[in-house]
Amino acid sequence: MAKKKICQWLNSTEYGSLVLRHGHVAACCTRELILLEKGTDFTKMSYEEIQNKRKELFEKMNSETSPCKNCCFMYEAEEENIDIGKLTFVVFHPHKTCNLKCSYCCYARSGEVLEKFDKEKYNIYQVISHLHDINILKDDFGIELGGGEPMLLEGIPESIEFLSKYYPKSTIQFISNFTLTNRIDKLIPVLINRKIKANLKTSVDCGTRKSYKKIRGFDLYNTMRNNILTAAKSNAFDDIILKYIFLDDCSNAGDNDINGFIKLVKEVKKANPNITSVVIDGDTTQFFKSKFTKTDMLPDKALKAACKIYRECSNIGCQFKWHGERVSYSSLSGRKQIEIILNSKNIQTLTLLQKIFSVKTENNHNVWRILGIKFSFRCK
Ligand code: SF4
Ligand code: SF4
Repeated sequence: MAKKKICQWLNSTEYGSLVLRHGHVAACCTRELILLEKGTDFTKMSYEEIQNKRKELFEKMNSETSPCKNCCFMYEAEEENIDIGKLTFVVFHPHKTCNLKCSYCCYARSGEVLEKFDKEKYNIYQVISHLHDINILKDDFGIELGGGEPMLLEGIPESIEFLSKYYPKSTIQFISNFTLTNRIDKLIPVLINRKIKANLKTSVDCGTRKSYKKIRGFDLYNTMRNNILTAAKSNAFDDIILKYIFLDDCSNAGDNDINGFIKLVKEVKKANPNITSVVIDGDTTQFFKSKFTKTDMLPDKALKAACKIYRECSNIGCQFKWHGERVSYSSLSGRKQIEIILNSKNIQTLTLLQKIFSVKTENNHNVWRILGIKFSFRCK
């Protein structure tokens, strides 16, 4: 059987997704290849309209004029393993509006975080119920709400109830800065009673108020911290994913930030009855500029700090998700970095073990270390 080029975004046996973003419909979140133009009403698209465009892109991907050339997410697969079918994942990032202005965010840099958006037009409940009506969702599909800040969206509680009724195997994921306390306080009781999976992915990026204000633009470190801990204690999420984006100048790779972050992870892990995860990543500005053809390694200082986060947080049972843009299995440099981070734990464990149990000769003495206690006997 012939092999064809494909990527996880298009292949419904994997991620098979639809990206509803900023007024248009795209095939992926990387080069954002447009399937349906800006101004598309997300509550009016037909099944055929969407799937014909996805299949058209698959044909183009395998032609001389492929818009996906050199994309590091593309690979070859047997045709029988390719399915441009129902959606496994929906990315819903309809607006760019946000209450923060992070230094690494292109919408903050362009000022688009301040834009007003049409809350009725982008009511998430209306969109999900339409996708259900056209029968394009797999039973166990996932939906990611992002933006901008997704807590600004209308229709979230209704969506959770709808999904609980019609898609009990589905997952809703929030990519939120988790600082909009009023909205979060109203959402938590709905999440406590959910019958679907709900995940929170939130970027922390530091461990002090000062750094948070510098990186995220507002003094909301404690607000974010309290909200996450409230959600953890309330059993509001099946997985709380705490992300650390290292800046290229390593200004957030110092001890205060790393130790503060590890402390927060430990507190969340203790309070959260479900999964607590960590994602390590780097600023993606340059990666986006290269059109996803070139990913750089994190600077040495950041990589060393990432190893410390990994050692300390995996030791208390946190999961590590290699889902970053720069630190993921999708690229060569990503795989190298993951290997370095994973190996750092083995090196540390070996050194620690040697410190606890070892027999050596030092300065004409036999030195035994048992359970960390040192016994020294003069050699005969
Ligand atoms: S640009 Fe890359 S991620 Fe997007 S559809 Fe093409 S291969 Fe997939
Ligand atoms: S929280 Fe997200 S959307 Fe808001 S400014 Fe930061 S990166 Fe941009």
